Amino acid sequence: VGHPFRTCRGMSSDKRPRIPHDQRFEVPRIPALVELCIQAGLDLPEYPTKRRRKPIVKIGRKEFVDANEDDLPDPEPDKFKEPILEEVSDDEITPPSSPEETAALAEETLKMWETLRNGALRLMKRYSVRVCGYCPEVHIGASGHKARNCGAFKHQQRNGQHGWQAAVLDDLIPPRYVWHMPESGELQKELKIFYGQAPAVVEICIQGGAQVPEKYKATMRLDIGIPSSLKEAEMVV
Ligand SMILES: [Zn+2]
Ligand SMILES: [Zn+2]
Repeated sequence: VGHPFRTCRGMSSDKRPRIPHDQRFEVPRIPALVELCIQAGLDLPEYPTKRRRKPIVKIGRKEFVDANEDDLPDPEPDKFKEPILEEVSDDEITPPSSPEETAALAEETLKMWETLRNGALRLMKRYSVRVCGYCPEVHIGASGHKARNCGAFKHQQRNGQHGWQAAVLDDLIPPRYVWHMPESGELQKELKIFYGQAPAVVEICIQGGAQVPEKYKATMRLDIGIPSSLKEAEMVV
């Protein structure tokens, strides 16, 4: 049934601009995190990447050529033989079969989420990630790209140019906050100020039986205790 709060911001929200189809990129696009990993050395069969193993050689004021790599041993064959970006078809995905398996899967998924976030954060210290200040577009590279496909209609005077700035982890992996369900199993409209939020992935893992990691307890408002009714709330205040 969803939650009872009137927080819908619809399509007028700045966060999800409607980008007309003809303004979209002509080149294929991949998740920002995958692009970051490819730049950091991940080899995927679906995105063969030529990697220089020696620095490029300067031959003129602004001219560079690849260094001769003939003396180096042959590069190692690709580690990943299977494409990883292919969608798994829905009927190949099986639900966990018991409460124990659900809890174990929830714990494992939550651990993976943390591994993913921590790994991305470390890679961001090494590779520059840019985000547009006017639309949600992210670019992996020091200076942003020049394509005039900025989706922010309020900035038409920019002629579609993005306004690039340094990105933070949440730009690269948006956490999508959701309401944390209280023990009672229902969210009451009047008690909205007492409810906390967690990234959607974290919330689904906790509902699946994973332990709440310490770092999420504050935003989930687990440190204060949620009143079960408006009456109880009034007594607390
Ligand atoms: Zn909505
Ligand atoms: Zn933009």
